[in-house]
Amino acid sequence: MKVLIISDVHGNLEALEAILAETRGTYEELWCLGDFVGYGPDPNRCIDLLRDRNVAAVMGNHDFGAARRESWDFFSPVARTMIEWTAGELSDDNRIWLKALPDLRYQAGFTLVHGSPADPVWRYILDGSSAAEAFAAMDTEAGFCGHTHLPMVFSIDRRMIRHTLPRYGKSIKPPGLMWIANPGSAGIPRDGDSRAAYLLADTKSGRITFHRVSYPSRKTITKLKRIGAPSQLIRLLETGG
Ligand code: ZN
Repeated sequence: MKVLIISDVHGNLEALEAILAETRGTYEELWCLGDFVGYGPDPNRCIDLLRDRNVAAVMGNHDFGAARRESWDFFSPVARTMIEWTAGELSDDNRIWLKALPDLRYQAGFTLVHGSPADPVWRYILDGSSAAEAFAAMDTEAGFCGHTHLPMVFSIDRRMIRHTLPRYGKSIKPPGLMWIANPGSAGIPRDGDSRAAYLLADTKSGRITFHRVSYPSRKTITKLKRIGAPSQLIRLLETGG
C-alpha cells in the first residue's frame, strides 16, 4: 500500500494544498503525525481538508495545547501566543475531533507518534540517546514520528544507532533492524529549507521517499500579519529556520 505521510502542518493551508496537489492519485492512505494546528492562520481549514481525506492521525503537543487549553506554560512565547489564538479559532467540531486523537496508533504494522514511542506527545527524537530510548519503547520494527520538524531516519542494528539524512525524490530502504522516520514539517520547516516537507511510503516493500515542494508562502505570511502574529514566526516561514 502506498501512503502519504505528513506531520506538523500547523495550520498552514497553502503548504498543505501544495502537498495534496503534488501527490494527488499517488497514495491509498494518508497518515498525519500530529500538530495539525498552532502557528498557522488556517487551523480549521487544514483539519477539514485532512478529515475529508480520512486521515489516520495522532495527537501533537500543539493539538493538545489548543484543543484542551492546557499545558500552555510548556511552550515558547511565540508558540504560546499562536496556540492561544488557535484555541479561540477552532470550531467546536474540530476541537472535539482533535481532543479525541490517540497519542499513539498502529497503522499497517507501523507505529505512528508525534514525538517518541517513549513519550508520544512531548518527547523529541533528536540524537542517539533519545533514539535508543524510542526503540526500547517501540513495539513494531518500523515507525514514523514528527515534532522536531527535521526530516531524517534513525535506525538501530544491535546497539548501533544510525542517523540518515534525506535525499529528496530517492526511494530508500532504511537500514537496521528497527527504524523510525520523520517526514519533516509540512507547514513550519525548521531545517533551513523553507519548502513544505512530506514523505511517501510503500508499506509492502518498506521503502520510503522524502520530498519537498515549494508553496506560495507570501499568502500565508500576509494572513499571519493580518492577525498580528509575532515577527519571529514570519521570519521562520521566510527562511525555514
Ligand atoms: Zn510541530
